Amino acid sequence: MTAASTTQLAEQFRAAFGSEPDGVWQAPGRVNLIGEHTDYNEGFVLPFAIDKTARVAVGVRSDSTVRLLSTYGDQGLTTADTATLDGRTAKGWTKYPLGVIWSLQQRGIDVPGLDLLLDSNVPLGAGLSSSHAIECAVVSALNDITGAGLSPEEMVLATQRAENDFVGAPTGIMDQSASLRGSAGHAVFLDCRDQSVELVPFEAEAARLVMLVIDTKVSHSHADGGYASRRASCELGAEVLGVKALRDVAPGDLDEASGLLDEVTFRRVRHVVTENDRVLQTVELLGLEGPSSIGGLLDASHASMRDDFEISCAELDLAVEASRSNGAIGARMTGGGFGGAAIALTPVAEEQRVRTAVERAFAEAGYTAPDIFTVTPAAGAMRLA
Ligand code: ADP
Ligand code: MG
Repeated sequence: MTAASTTQLAEQFRAAFGSEPDGVWQAPGRVNLIGEHTDYNEGFVLPFAIDKTARVAVGVRSDSTVRLLSTYGDQGLTTADTATLDGRTAKGWTKYPLGVIWSLQQRGIDVPGLDLLLDSNVPLGAGLSSSHAIECAVVSALNDITGAGLSPEEMVLATQRAENDFVGAPTGIMDQSASLRGSAGHAVFLDCRDQSVELVPFEAEAARLVMLVIDTKVSHSHADGGYASRRASCELGAEVLGVKALRDVAPGDLDEASGLLDEVTFRRVRHVVTENDRVLQTVELLGLEGPSSIGGLLDASHASMRDDFEISCAELDLAVEASRSNGAIGARMTGGGFGGAAIALTPVAEEQRVRTAVERAFAEAGYTAPDIFTVTPAAGAMRLA
């Protein structure tokens, strides 16, 4: 998928709605460098905004009608009304923009009717958060249009509410934070307890590395049971251990925890606790030695998700193994799991070898051919026109 230019998008908007858009906003997808399933445990994550974005052209209307159109697929125009938004009846992708409108309404913000055209080149369902790219583009647009003056932190919470209470996906704040607060050449070190952010230089190119994304094409859905059940295990673990969130458990506490928790809950807890620690180590190493020093932490993160948290799948494991044995310095599945994408931090000189090896391994296993592409840390959400 290639992105339409701002001018093209405005032209498409005119063709679809017969009027001029009031503006065009964009928000990126994200890759999580490390820190998986730590966000809702009030822990640490280290995602970065990527150079793939959702763009929305928005025109304000004088009534309360909302008309939504996406350039993706052949889904036709959806019409709704700002006065009667309901997550139970909203369909398909329109849940995301409608959820954001609804969420702003819950904060007492008066959102006008509008026409909205979406064009996104963030791959869908690949673990790159195409859904948050939409939500963050929409919340940025509505924040400007309504003059609500929400801070990035408030926009993060508004999109989280849209996902949790309108879309019905119990997701945390990582994806929105990366999309809204990302910066070119940086990863976003986010403390999910207090939303504090530190931008950490992550310049793979300067270290002669590329970040490959391997989209396994295995579709995942956060609304399905796997994510919710992992979240429930974490809540149970925190309750039994007597802490507010698993963030409050240190690696040194794990021995004692193993005696208090059932075997499965213990492994879930161990993943979160060690993953939090790996995020802190990654931030430290990036500062001290740069991107070429973090390969081992990426590998350890994958092993923990595969064995302790059990959210990987055969295709993701194969993508990681084939990358690692063909020159990548570290690789892990990224995103919520159960499908989606893996990342492989790879020396520029080995990029082709890794691509070929992964493609071959997938063909030999009889899996659908993966989509392999590079991403670079890019700017967060912004107004384009
Ligand atoms: P992810 O966010 O990891 O990509 P999700 O399942 O959370 O996966 O979100 C994918 C959903 O987002 C799709 O099913 C679709 O409803 C919506 N979506 C993403 N991009 C587009 C687009 N360009 N046009 C329409 N809907 C889209
Ligand atoms: Mg999503």
